[in-house]
Amino acid sequence: MENSNFLENYKLEGNLLEILTYPAPVLKKVAEPVTEFNDDLRALCKDMFYTMYDAPGIGLAAPQVGKSIRLFVMDIDFDREEITKADDSVEYELSNFNPMVFINPEISNKEGEVLYEEGCLSVPGIFEEVKRFETITITYQDMYGEKHTIEADELLSICLQHENDHLDGIVFLERLSMLKQNLLKKKFLKKKKKNKGF
Ligand SMILES: [Zn+2]
Repeated sequence: MENSNFLENYKLEGNLLEILTYPAPVLKKVAEPVTEFNDDLRALCKDMFYTMYDAPGIGLAAPQVGKSIRLFVMDIDFDREEITKADDSVEYELSNFNPMVFINPEISNKEGEVLYEEGCLSVPGIFEEVKRFETITITYQDMYGEKHTIEADELLSICLQHENDHLDGIVFLERLSMLKQNLLKKKFLKKKKKNKGF
């Protein structure tokens, strides 16, 4: 993979953004292409990484933080260690960052089939097996507008397809059978209502 996709010397800093949950309308919208590769865009990426690592998650798409643009961030490699301090409070130490940014992605050469149990920061608490293509090719721009193409398999391929779906207004529940979708959506919305009381 080309190095220019990675943020060199990534440091865990930024602003925590609110992660919107299903059925927020922005999650159902087809996002607009990114046209300006400026400092604002790079600041948004930084905040999205900060928010993703805090959650924690391995991917976060711009619509999930209320920005309907074709951009997502990912890190499928970082480690998160739980540290219990002397006063019994718990802290998390993150290491081995491998942050990747994908802007205006296009997926092609979809081949094979793979089942993987997915979750989503916008549908917390629900994990379901989703069928995805096993290998894909993705062409995308980095934070400076430069174009790259990579081939992906395994978790990278699955995560890219999940995040790319967010840019098309699709949450992973919509990749399941109708029966399962209706059941899970009801279950999720019920739980959400209950949680509001706390
Ligand atoms: Zn998601």
